[in-house]
Amino acid sequence: MSRSYGFDTLQIHAGARPDPATGARQVPIYQTTAYVFRDADHAAALFNLQEVGYIYSRLTNPTVAVLGERIATLEGGVGAVCCSSGHAAQIMALFPLMGPGCNLIASTRLYGGTVTQFSQTIKRFGWSAKFVDFDDLDALAAAIDGNTRAIFCESIANPGGYITDIRAVADVADRAGLPLIVDNTSATPWLCRPIDLGATLVVHSTTKYLTGNGTVTGGAIVDSGKFDWSASGKFPSLSAPEPAYHGLKFHETFGPLAFTFHSIAIGLRDLGMTMNPQGAHYTLMGIETLSLRMQRHVENARKVAEWLENDPRVEHVTYAGLPSSPYYERGKRVCPKGAGALFTFAVRGGYQACVKLVDSLELFSHVANLGDTRSLIIHSASTTHRQLTPEQQKAAGAAPNVVRVSIGIEDADDIIADLDQALAKATA
Ligand SMILES: *Cc1c(COP(=O)(O)O)cnc(C)c1O
Repeated sequence: MSRSYGFDTLQIHAGARPDPATGARQVPIYQTTAYVFRDADHAAALFNLQEVGYIYSRLTNPTVAVLGERIATLEGGVGAVCCSSGHAAQIMALFPLMGPGCNLIASTRLYGGTVTQFSQTIKRFGWSAKFVDFDDLDALAAAIDGNTRAIFCESIANPGGYITDIRAVADVADRAGLPLIVDNTSATPWLCRPIDLGATLVVHSTTKYLTGNGTVTGGAIVDSGKFDWSASGKFPSLSAPEPAYHGLKFHETFGPLAFTFHSIAIGLRDLGMTMNPQGAHYTLMGIETLSLRMQRHVENARKVAEWLENDPRVEHVTYAGLPSSPYYERGKRVCPKGAGALFTFAVRGGYQACVKLVDSLELFSHVANLGDTRSLIIHSASTTHRQLTPEQQKAAGAAPNVVRVSIGIEDADDIIADLDQALAKATA
């Protein structure tokens, strides 16, 4: 069949085929660490990357490979590598690009854990990050220097309410000859396709909506296959002979798949941030219903945000799906099917009222997670964004009087009723 399938079909079928050994229709969980070589020549060809196949599950595994192909297809990329978590995916995305003394330019509006990873932990590798407000494109361009190797942002930024103008940021990256990495966790490819808007790489925490039910941590990096790694000499690990793989030139050898092969042959081999097949299985189960869930997530989020905005106990709601949001029009361009299901609102009564609200909710779960079928809440300032300075908290949309919600796919009326009774207690 030559027609190209739609999203709903691909989220079920992409990457999967009946198991060649048994005919199993669902993707088997290949719970194995190693694979028997046909003979010594076969083993040598696999280790030389002359033949594609399975060696050892730190590198590749058939169950994990199906998930990688599915995510790559849904994002419109040429290849993907799955990792043990979203944070692992971020390090893996930067690893082929960076070296000691190199920096990346990152948006100020990021998941709290990413701010910490970029502002503190990567320094141990000799890498650094400069944080810039990505609404100020001149400041973004000005921050780029001779040692910059990547630009990093989120499509719909966690903790919510902010949407990045990906195409405009991609234009800045293009002019500087740099890859743009977009974390598409909060939007998912159903709401936003960063590669269509000019992104080079897309990273995911599959822990969230892609799995969708709060069962496993995982991550993925999708490569658009469009970046010319050899154009500038800035990415020697991809363009020049790589000493960590007996002098192989990845870009020359693998063309648009250079990044993906590098991430497996060197990244997973030496960093070992591998997704396990059982984890991939849960995510494959979840991803089959991604579009159906996201539709309901967005529908519920809009209803709840509208209700909150009209409630006098609430100071303001930052949801890009509300016409009152400064990001409403941009949202319609960047994520035309909806602004996600993650947003924040400020409660009258400040920090104490937020803590009381969180403790009074019954249906909502108080957890450091998002993108579950269940409605979730967190007071970012006392939890996920606790390590940040007050200025960083505010810049990240996590001020002390603000709570973040991840609206689930329960009955919207039940979600609203729960907020109603808890707000009554919080502001009494
Ligand atoms: C959760 C999250 C991460 C980190 O992912 P883990 O799977 O928890 O490591 C990164 N970015 C965003 C936007 C997230 O929501």
